[in-house]
Amino acid sequence: MSENQMYDLIIIGGGPGGLSAGIYAQRASLKTVLIEKGAPGGQMNLTDEVENYPGFELLSGPELSMKMNQHAESLGLKMISDEVDTIAPGDASHTVKLASGKELSALAVIIATGGYPRKLGIPGEDEYYGKGVSFCATCDGFFFRGKTVIVVGGGDTAVEEALYLAKIADKVYLAHRRDALRASPILQQRVFDNDKIEMLWDTVPTAIHAENGGVNSITLKNVKTAEINDLAVDGVFIFIGYLPNARLVPEAVKRADGGYVVTDKRCETNIPGIFAIGDLAEKFARQIVTAAGDGCTAALAAAQYVELKKATDGL
Ligand code: NAP
Repeated sequence: MSENQMYDLIIIGGGPGGLSAGIYAQRASLKTVLIEKGAPGGQMNLTDEVENYPGFELLSGPELSMKMNQHAESLGLKMISDEVDTIAPGDASHTVKLASGKELSALAVIIATGGYPRKLGIPGEDEYYGKGVSFCATCDGFFFRGKTVIVVGGGDTAVEEALYLAKIADKVYLAHRRDALRASPILQQRVFDNDKIEMLWDTVPTAIHAENGGVNSITLKNVKTAEINDLAVDGVFIFIGYLPNARLVPEAVKRADGGYVVTDKRCETNIPGIFAIGDLAEKFARQIVTAAGDGCTAALAAAQYVELKKATDGL
């Protein structure tokens, strides 16, 4: 296959959205390529347990990634392991430049680049990343067997990861900036029932400290009383939400607050033939199943777009 080959559809990102789009695109007989720079599965690979993907009562994130990837492969989806540098929208077709120097064109592009963890922006967070500061319990929890860790955040991710860490660490503090968790009630109850997890309500970290190259304490502030305390911890796990990974989204594409991409009911942006799905798009629920649903919608809409475009442009 030549390097500047023309596709019907290029999918960027191999998470649940991108892989679902790939499955639907193959079934719609679109000439498709999916580009992913890391392991297929995206953020699913960082998730210990998935309990709400229909058809699977319980499986690990990496297992679900593998199943989706195998499903896409079984349908013959072409996948390229590379990083995308730019997406240049065009009238006749859109061009995607890869870090390897390859240049691909397609009538439609689905951007499924997901999100990345929001940071606290406090001293020590960047300096001690990988030395006790982590954004992934599944990846780093192993190093904290029998130790004391603090999880920061109050959403589903923070609570799930605190529960995961409680299986490994001796003690888990869960610090949340308010007096009520945002996480779903079923997960909240598990935290409250877990003897190893201690809630620190109305609490925000203000600095992370280390000694001998490893985290040894964190400074916490109670936002109601303004009281400040240092707490001895070996690890700090930060789960305070995600930001859209919108670096590749062309400038002319409309964004909402927070940088999320605005799409219509077909998951199409304001640029015809460019679609955005999953955690990148403005939406109410950011779940594996909603990303997969977006992938279906975008691929079906892209198939219709490609058919019309070919008919109109006489391709
Ligand atoms: P999230 O729902 O946006 O929650 C972020 C949490 O961090 C909130 O509790 C927020 O506090 C807190 N926070 C934000 N900025 C902060 C700051 N600067 N300092 C301190 N705390 C801060 O993010 P998430 O938990 O990562 O979840 C993302 C999406 O994935 C959600 O839609 C979630 O439902 C979904 N998800 C679902 C599952 C599941 O269904 N099993 C698992 C994981 C994630 P406030 O509450 O005060 O705003």
